[in-house]
Amino acid sequence: MMPAKCSQFSHDDHLDLEDPGVETRLEALKQRLAAENTTLSLRWLLLPIFIVVLYLSTTPSWIQFTHLPFRRYHPITLSNLAPGASSSRQGLTVMSFNILAEIWGGDPRSFGKPNCADCQGEGCKPCDGRGTASGYSKPVRDRRLVKTILSNEFRPDIIMLQEAQLDTVEYIAQNAGYENAHFPSNGLDLWREWVHEEVAPMQHNGNAILIKKDSALKKVYHETIPVSIRDGYLVPNAKETHRLAVNVPVVVVEFGGKRVAIVNVHLEYGCRLSPLSIGWDHPGYRRRIQMHKIHKRLKEMMISQGEDRCDEVVIGGDFNDVSEFGTDHGGLKDIMTSEMRYINHVDVHGLQHLDTCANISRYSARLDHIFSTKGMESSMAYVPDEHYEHIWGWPFFGGVSNNWDRPFGSGAVNIYQMIDKYGSDHLPVVVKLHLKK
Ligand SMILES: [Zn+2]
Repeated sequence: MMPAKCSQFSHDDHLDLEDPGVETRLEALKQRLAAENTTLSLRWLLLPIFIVVLYLSTTPSWIQFTHLPFRRYHPITLSNLAPGASSSRQGLTVMSFNILAEIWGGDPRSFGKPNCADCQGEGCKPCDGRGTASGYSKPVRDRRLVKTILSNEFRPDIIMLQEAQLDTVEYIAQNAGYENAHFPSNGLDLWREWVHEEVAPMQHNGNAILIKKDSALKKVYHETIPVSIRDGYLVPNAKETHRLAVNVPVVVVEFGGKRVAIVNVHLEYGCRLSPLSIGWDHPGYRRRIQMHKIHKRLKEMMISQGEDRCDEVVIGGDFNDVSEFGTDHGGLKDIMTSEMRYINHVDVHGLQHLDTCANISRYSARLDHIFSTKGMESSMAYVPDEHYEHIWGWPFFGGVSNNWDRPFGSGAVNIYQMIDKYGSDHLPVVVKLHLKK
């Protein structure tokens, strides 16, 4: 018999073959080794199970399996390729863009990191133009946002900004040539727990509507629709100035002899999995009651004879329309087209398969839309296609899209590629609208 290695056994375990008890002790040792081996192989067996459970519990992609037979896929159409090639007929170009407010962290790569010592965040050679060691600083990102807005694909007459903070809106208005037409702040206590004052102090923030200065558009009226929610109920008679107010700006412009109301929304965020909730009250439900209130007010405006009257409505923004359990198909956008009779102009042009937003957990979704009433039609809709090829296998390689209108596992959009290219974790959405003849 091979002598056992000393290192594996305590002093007592040394085998003395003359010892009459050696058989018993040898047997005990064998049993102990066998037990240890079992534990070891159990651990190896549990490891993949653990990884699978982690995967399923942290990504909403598993839900896609359950809906697989109902998935629709829309091929890329011409209208996604060249916005300039579409109708040259005089139109109203409207853009929606969630610009990732700095007060909630801005570029996650630079969050909490000091600005570059050489350029103080302005962007220089040593920091590779980023302004911080790893991500974009606010000045660099602000410039990128302006560049996006002024690029040939966009140059809108009207911009609807979400997650906008005052100094960014002022910068964009000044440097891209827009008038800040209406920008009511949300209550300064709303979403305050997301603000790290030491990184970026709280300021006036929310949804802004900007009008291009050299356009012929004339603002004739504006108002604010507060859609604040408390304990799952809309706050009755909600005040725009309440410290928890959620405010929706409305601007009425004169266009082609009609009065068109521009409405910029950023609805309640989340699904049941985050945060965990039970009962009837969940973020998707909150988005619906917010939208119903907005819709009710707009219907009043459309039959009003007063200064608030309007003929047509354009609603755009970040609808956060994910389902109760996490896919991008919350059904609100369907309610808006079926019950409320709006037109989803990005859908009209067959671009449902393009995600508009991604997060650091590497999944992406389509949250940004532009709707109008039926008196308007669109000659163009454009969303940049930032889906990349290598896919499959979140969290290992690319990312997962939770867009029902994409084939399963067909690739996400990436948050950092989007910030680098456009300045935000959302992509801009733009449509060119016309009054129906
Ligand atoms: Zn620098």
